[in-house]
Amino acid sequence: MQALDEILRHAETAIQSATDLKSLDNYRVQYLGKKGQLTEYLKTLGQLPPEERPAAGQKINAAKEAVQALIDKRIADLQKAQVEQQLASEAIDVTLPGRSAGLGSIHPVTKTFDDLRRIFSQMGFVFMEGPEIEEDYYNFTALNVPPLHPARAMQDTFYFSDGLVLRSQMSPVQIHAMKKMAPPLRMVAMGRVYRRDFDLTHTPMFHQMECLMVDEHITFADLKGLLNQFLHEFFSTDAPIRFRPSYFPFTEPSAEVDIGCLNCGGKGCRICKNSGWLEVLGCGMVHPNVLNGVSIDSEKYRGFAFGVGLDRLTLLKYGMTDLRSLFENDLRLLKQF
Ligand SMILES: [Zn+2]
Repeated sequence: MQALDEILRHAETAIQSATDLKSLDNYRVQYLGKKGQLTEYLKTLGQLPPEERPAAGQKINAAKEAVQALIDKRIADLQKAQVEQQLASEAIDVTLPGRSAGLGSIHPVTKTFDDLRRIFSQMGFVFMEGPEIEEDYYNFTALNVPPLHPARAMQDTFYFSDGLVLRSQMSPVQIHAMKKMAPPLRMVAMGRVYRRDFDLTHTPMFHQMECLMVDEHITFADLKGLLNQFLHEFFSTDAPIRFRPSYFPFTEPSAEVDIGCLNCGGKGCRICKNSGWLEVLGCGMVHPNVLNGVSIDSEKYRGFAFGVGLDRLTLLKYGMTDLRSLFENDLRLLKQF
């Protein structure tokens, strides 16, 4: 009977130290199984004198029940601990602030649109729109480029079959404007234009702004003053600006405008191809044929116009080099703005 107490004590220690259901089951087999220690012990009853057998049998059965009770309690404890652990790990703190979606940013070309809208509305220009699918007349003929004029070859235009084109410049909007409104006139049009071109500095769709002012006594000096103000404000710089003689069919005289390289300050670098200058736009005094074509008296009124590629302005402003990157929508690039 002393050995029985010993077995019971060992069983109690072992069961209490069990950390999972599997090891508990091993203990059950070890003590209560067919060949378990207590079962074996029961088999030794036959060696006792008959009068001692009932008392000894009772004691062994009580020991078996005690071990079973210990195991049951340990199982309950382990299950309870498991549930508590699960509750703790899955707990939700409803007082924590929510996870917000990442903020988007404004596309650099849209920023350029916004800048120009601000600059030119301050100077009293109105903003106008026109169709992207345009009649040949507005895209060319009215701009002093009649059919078969060699200047049509300057632009690789997308043609539809029935005298319609995807506008290759924003200038057609000036014609719409002059047909609708009598001078004095100050208008700006910004939008998408299309040409058959695709390389480092050309994309088939790009953005242009066209600016037109028509009034009595307008001179080239007015154009020069406006462009100085616009370019200096847009690029936040006082870099020099120069005019080079050029040719456009719808202006006479015509000029191309350069600004001192924003990257190297005019010393010469990769971006300005070591010239110290960046070409930014084309401009000129509106050709009398264009004014007469929309019934504006070119003896009384004069005008200036300029057109500028907004994607190129954007590249120059932010020191980028590949025009195509503006249309790839790579978030790593866009997130920097
Ligand atoms: Zn440079």
